[in-house]
Amino acid sequence: MENTSWPIMEHFYTIQGEGAHQGCAAYFVRLGGCDVGCHWCDVKDSWDASQWPAMTASEITKQITKSNAPITIITGGEPAMYDLSVLTTCLHEVGQKTHIETSGAYPVKGDFDWITFSPKKFKKPDESIYPIAHELKVVIFNKSDFKWAEEHASKVNSNCKLFLQPEWSKKEEILPLIIEYVKKYPKWEISIQAHKYINVP
Ligand code: SF4
Repeated sequence: MENTSWPIMEHFYTIQGEGAHQGCAAYFVRLGGCDVGCHWCDVKDSWDASQWPAMTASEITKQITKSNAPITIITGGEPAMYDLSVLTTCLHEVGQKTHIETSGAYPVKGDFDWITFSPKKFKKPDESIYPIAHELKVVIFNKSDFKWAEEHASKVNSNCKLFLQPEWSKKEEILPLIIEYVKKYPKWEISIQAHKYINVP
């Protein structure tokens, strides 16, 4: 049976700070629930879905239409744990572009205009993500992660944009390495979590 409501940890209108849509106004919907278990996760409160209230597709859509947002970004948690088809249909009906940010741990279910694939070492991505991802965003925590990033880059489709993003707590150490790496391999771009520099959520 299709889902018609989902555990919502938070939802807010802000500026996308990461990846290909960095700087764009967007409404974020953060779903509760994640079993990936990244030790550096900055939203660990999202992991337990049961503590977040459920909202229906129409309730979520109503909130979004009150804002001026042109894009809705479904994030988490791990939003691909859920069938989001009903929600993406409702969002399209009110003219929203639909984006999702996923680790790829589960097949994406829903009609998304933009799929951000951010693989995590703690749970292997489902193979179905590679042909459909619009951007690959790899968080670099240490030097060995560059090789791991290339492994995923070799599997995504040829139109997929490629981003390297320093893990926030190690950015002073890692950002210089990413800058040199991108200069050497310019198929990659840097994603810097601009929202944290401009102090928006
Ligand atoms: Fe946190 Fe995302 Fe990793 Fe889940 S996939 S543990 S929400 S960083």
